[in-house]
Amino acid sequence: MTKPIRGRFAPSPSGRMHLGNLFAALLAWLDVRSLGGEMLLRMEDLDPDRCKPAYTPQLAEDLRWLGLDWDLGWQEGQDEYCQSYRTEFYAEAFRALEGEGLVYPCYCSRKELLAASAPHGSDGARVYSGRCRGLSPAERAALEAQGRRPAWRIAVPEETISFTDGNFGPQSEVLSRDCGDFILRRSDGVYAYQLAVTADDGLMGVNRVVRGWDLLSSTPRQIWLMERLGYAVPTYCHLPLLCSGEGRRLAKRDRDLDVGALRRVTTPEKVTGFLARAAGLIDRFEAVSPRELIGEFSWERVGRADRVVEEIDWASL
Ligand code: GLU
Ligand code: ZN
Repeated sequence: MTKPIRGRFAPSPSGRMHLGNLFAALLAWLDVRSLGGEMLLRMEDLDPDRCKPAYTPQLAEDLRWLGLDWDLGWQEGQDEYCQSYRTEFYAEAFRALEGEGLVYPCYCSRKELLAASAPHGSDGARVYSGRCRGLSPAERAALEAQGRRPAWRIAVPEETISFTDGNFGPQSEVLSRDCGDFILRRSDGVYAYQLAVTADDGLMGVNRVVRGWDLLSSTPRQIWLMERLGYAVPTYCHLPLLCSGEGRRLAKRDRDLDVGALRRVTTPEKVTGFLARAAGLIDRFEAVSPRELIGEFSWERVGRADRVVEEIDWASL
C-alpha cells in the first residue's frame, strides 16, 4: 500500500503573517488537497529571540480566516507541534549523528568565520572552511579554558546530492564545495533549523514539502540529513515568492500587507482571488474560496517566476 500524501505548513510565529506567507500557505494547501492528501501544521518557533508565543494562535486563526484547514498538527492546547516543545527529539537526532562521528565543536567567532570562509557561488551564503574540524583534544581544551563556547557542526562528505524539485526541476549540489560543514546546534544550545526541520519532517511522516524557493538551497542538506537519520526523503516543491515593487521579497515591514491590516479592509475570498490570480490559477480576478480552486491547481501554471505586487486597492477589486 502506498502511504497517503502528507504535506505541511511550517510557519515561524515571529510576527503577523503577510500576503507572501498566505501565498505560500494557499499553494501548499492546494498542492496537497489536489492530490487528496493530508495537511499538517507545525509551528517553527525554534528561535526564542525571534518567536513570541502570542503569535502562534494568531497564526492558526489567520490561516483559518483565509479558508485553509489541516488534519493534523497544532491546535489550541497541542503544543507538541511547536518546535520549542520538541527539543528532546532534536537532541536524539543530534546524538545519532554524533554517534556516527560526524559532529564536532566549532569555536570560530563571527569575525573568524568571515575571514576563513568564501562566499558561495549560487546564493551568496558562505562556505565554512572546516577550520575546527581537525582540532586536537588539547586545542579544544585550550579554547574551552578561554571560556569559548562552541557551536556544533556536522562534517559533510564530498557527495553530490541530486533531486528533482517538483517545480524547479533537477537540482544538484556537492555538499563539501557548495555548503561546507553546517551548524546543527548553536553555541547557546538552540538546535539549528536544518536539524529540527529534518527531524520533524521525518518523525511526522511528511512526504510533500511545499515552500518558497528561498529554501531551495537548504534542501540538499536536509535530504542528506534525512538519509543519515533513516527517514524517507519527501518530494520537495519550491514556490516563487511575492515581491514588492522594488523587487525585494515581501517582508514583515510591508505593514499594509500584513494579515491584520488585510482583515480590516478586505475579505478572505478577495485575498484568495488575488493570490490565485498572482499564482496564475485563474485568468482574471474574482473572489473565490480556496476550496473552489482545488481543481485549478497545477505546477505548470504556478511556474518559477517571482511575482511583483504593486499597491492593491482592495475596495475596487
Ligand atoms: N519555518 C520556515 C519559515 O517560516 C519554513 C521552513 C520550511 O518550510 O522548511 O520560513
Ligand atoms: Zn570553527
